[in-house]
Formats: sequence, C-alpha cells, structure tokens
Amino acid sequence: MRILISGASVSGPVLAYWLTRRGFSVTVVERAPTLRKTGGHAVDLFRPAMNISEKMGVLPRVEERATDANRMNIYREGARRPVRVDLSKIYGAASDRHVEIMRDDLSEIYYDAARDDVEYIFGDSITAISPDGEVRFENAAPRRFDLVVGADGLHSNVRRLIFGEESRFSAFIGAYLGVLTLPNASGLDGELLMHVGVGRTAGMYAARHLGEARAIFLFRSERELDYHHRDVPRQKELLRGAFGGLHADVDCWLDELDRTPAFYFDSITQLRMDTWSRGRVTLVGDAGYCPGPAVGGSTSLAVVGAYVLAGELARAGGDHERAFPAYERAMAEHVRGSRAVALSAAKTLIPTSRLGVRGLVQGARLISALPAGPSRALLHLTTKSARLFNSMTVDDYPASLVASGGRGAA
Ligand SMILES: Cc1cc2nc3c(=O)[nH]c(=O)nc-3n(C[C@H](O)[C@H](O)[C@H](O)COP(=O)(O)OP(=O)(O)OC[C@H]3O[C@@H](n4cnc5c(N)ncnc54)[C@H](O)[C@@H]3O)c2cc1C
Repeated sequence: MRILISGASVSGPVLAYWLTRRGFSVTVVERAPTLRKTGGHAVDLFRPAMNISEKMGVLPRVEERATDANRMNIYREGARRPVRVDLSKIYGAASDRHVEIMRDDLSEIYYDAARDDVEYIFGDSITAISPDGEVRFENAAPRRFDLVVGADGLHSNVRRLIFGEESRFSAFIGAYLGVLTLPNASGLDGELLMHVGVGRTAGMYAARHLGEARAIFLFRSERELDYHHRDVPRQKELLRGAFGGLHADVDCWLDELDRTPAFYFDSITQLRMDTWSRGRVTLVGDAGYCPGPAVGGSTSLAVVGAYVLAGELARAGGDHERAFPAYERAMAEHVRGSRAVALSAAKTLIPTSRLGVRGLVQGARLISALPAGPSRALLHLTTKSARLFNSMTVDDYPASLVASGGRGAA
C-alpha cells in the first residue's frame, strides 16, 4: 500500500518511520530543496513524545542535541534587576520528561531514523489530488497513491486543496509572534534572557551547539494587523512599533532586524477543524490541529499524532475508512486540551496588565525556588492544564502491528 506524505519537518518523518515499520510503502514530498538545517526555533518534547522517540531508538541523539537552556533571567518592564529562575524546575513541574531542542535538529534526527526505507522528494509540492488517489506535482510526473497525508504545517497546502481556504478554520487568538536569528553577542550559554511588559514579551536564547542566537517576540493585538504575508519590511516595522522602549537589550535585538539572515513573523492562530480527514486524505500535526505556534506544545502533539495515525492504519489493515475516524477519536481530547493550554499559556506569557506582569515574574521565581513536589503542585494550581502533556495517554501500538489483509495492504 502506497502512502504519500507532504512535509518533512517533525510529523512527516515520524509518520514515515512508523508507517514503514508497519509494512507500508512511503513517499515524502517536501517543498524545501533540502532538509532544513538552519536551526529553526526551539521546540519542546514532553513525556509522550519522549516515549515515542525512545521507541524509535533516537532518544540518545535527541538528548545529546538538547538546547540545555536551564536558567532564565527575567526582567519586569522598568525593573533594574532580573529575577533568576531555574527553568528546569518549571519544565519539570509541567512534565517529568522533557527536552528542548532546535526544530531542525529534531527533524534531521527523525529523518535519519527511516531515510533508507522512505522515498524522499525535495523541492516539490502537490498541486492536485483526485478522489481516486492520482496526485499531481509542480515538478514530478503524476503518480497514484492509496492515501495522502498532509504533514505540511500550519499553512498546509494539502488542507487547502482538500478542505478549502485556511481562513475557514483558523481562529486568531489575539497575539503575534516574531523570531529572528542574531549573533550571540551577550555570550548566552544555557540561559534565556527575557523582558516582560504589559502586552509584550521578548526573549533571547542560544542553543549550546549553535554559534548564533534567536530573539523571540510575542505581543498582543486585539485586532488582526494589516500586512501581507510576503511584506517582510512591513512585518519588521510592526515588530519595532510593538517593542520600542521595552528595554535597551530589546532595542539591540531590534537593531538586528536589518541584518538578520532569518526572520519569521505570523499571527498566533489556532486551527479549529471538526474533522481533518476526507476520502483518502488526512492531516497530521500542525496541518490538522495546530493549537497555536509557541504556546500550545504543538511539537509533542505532532509526534503523538503521527504515531497514532500509523498505529491506527496498521490496526485497520490499511483500511482508511476505519483508521481515519479511529485516529481522530484517539486525538480529539489531546487536541481540545492543547487548544486550552495554548489560550492559557498566551494569557500568562503575554500579560494584559501590570498585575499579570508581576504575577508571571513572581510565579516563575516561586516555582523555581520550591522543591520539585510543591512546585508541581503550585504550577498545577496556577496554570490550567499545565500537566496535560505529561498525562496524555497514548495507546501502545505493538511493534508487531503490521498491516495485513484489508484493502490495498502492503
Ligand atoms: C516561531 C515558532 C516558535 C515555536 N515554538 C515552539 C515551542 O516553543 N514549543 C513547541 O513545542 N512548538 C513550537 N512551535 C511549533 C512547532 O514548530 C510545530 O508545532 C512543529 O514544528 C509541527 O511540526 P509539523 O511537522 O506538523 O509542521 P512544520 O514543522 O510546520 O513542518 C511543515 C513542513 O512542511 C513543509 N511544507 C510546507 N508546505 C509544503 C508544500 N506545499 N509541499 C511540501 N512540503 C511543504 C515545510 O517546509 C515543513 O518542512 C513553534 C513554531 C514557530 C513557528
């Protein structure tokens, strides 16, 4: 049985790994010309995604590549001195198994895990998918597949082709996100520097093995801002406008906007689809259920989603009419929970009042100062669904679950 996956970042390679282990024949098409290796941004793997990485045999590499950011200096707007926070306590309070890693390192690790068993096509994109499985590409000749999976991110091409325009499913949650790559001028090593004001939060971090750093900007806006997604100068202007005067550090980071080799700007939107499968096509990861970049633990959700989808396809012997609804049922509660986490994390991380700013800084200090047990309890009390990513239950699809029988089995 031949399955085409669009997207080779996180959910695509994890899905490819588990599908090939279960006897399916897999092709992955990725729009980028090669596997991205510029680093991207830091992402989080919580307990269930760590467990899945362990089953894939890649956990040692994941841990070796961890950013190792375990301290944070956090400045409240106007304060002269930072509050020092033990980040490992904060992560530990949310999940007893956690790694922060640069996204491109993670996708390389997952890609390597099954690269010899998967056909990868880089520098191409799907242009049409017919109901009988004929797929057209921008460059490659048309081919027929039994199933197609969109693992192509928040702005998924497969979703647009099958379900229509993104605006039908995306909900703006009142915030924007910007990221830029800049020199690690302050020599950050294993620490995050953060400045928080009313309606705006900016931070800078450096992964241990990267020569450069990232500055991340989160800010509130009640209304959606007026800009074109390709108009980078306008996006930079919006960022400068939102963060001017927060702190001299932040002004220095903003100065790098004219020189940065990598810049990202987007609204924080949540995808809300009632179903993410139609006919022979389904979606996985951010493409189907992004709870909001940088706030909802979406990387762990993407890894779990890919594992569950492969498991349900094998369990149903390749019959997508049984597997896709089972996959959606298994993910529904995790997706709902992640949306709630994202909304509450956005509220906490980008406070709407001076009181909220104080609450964030003092809360972080308190959790990091307490021993593990009480800090977990405190986080649990103060942060809605804080431990969702620790407690997610995921079926343990047996390794012996290999597709057999059923329509079009391998
Ligand atoms: C700035 C930022 C900060 C973030 N911070 C965090 C964080 O702190 N913690 C966390 O857990 N998560 C974070 N995330 C979210 C995290 O990056 C995603 O949840 C995760 O990468 C989802 O993986 P995915 O494979 O589903 O999608 P993506 O990683 O978005 O990958 C989609 C892939 O599809 C490819 N693609 C796109 N269009 C096409 C096409 N037409 N044809 C073929 N291929 C295509 C892309 O090139 C890409 O390789 C952040 C995201 C952003 C943008």
